[in-house]
Amino acid sequence: MSKVEDFLSAEEEQEIVLAIRQAELNTSGEIRVHLEATTLLPHYQRALEVFQMLKMFNTQQQNAVLIYVAVEDHKFVIYGDEGINKVVPENFWDATKNVMQEQFKQGNFKQGIIKGVLKAGEELKAHFPWQINDEDELSNEISKG
Ligand code: CA
Ligand code: CA
Repeated sequence: MSKVEDFLSAEEEQEIVLAIRQAELNTSGEIRVHLEATTLLPHYQRALEVFQMLKMFNTQQQNAVLIYVAVEDHKFVIYGDEGINKVVPENFWDATKNVMQEQFKQGNFKQGIIKGVLKAGEELKAHFPWQINDEDELSNEISKG
């Protein structure tokens, strides 16, 4: 099994962290990225597990979103907290999924994640705009499993 570190260089990781910071200037929502090679669990279930492991339910408005990628499985899940699900339509993440899929299909791994992060921020803006007293409630660093 290859190491998750092999998927992105340190520079590429920093570009993603910057994208998260940029995306969070649009919204009070918190965006995190988790990368791992593979999982034995169904991907949606694993995304939920990671969400809990990272204590992502711990935001004031319950508006965190996890972009979970199992790189070798060629699978990703966008998992948003209850505060988001309560106010958005069911297909809310489709646009974000589509921009990611488009890049992944072309083999643009880093770009797919960056575009997904930025799109998620834009989408969240309508429901959870950035506010002057915004706190960075969750780390912007990439989490690796
Ligand atoms: Ca915030
Ligand atoms: Ca954050």
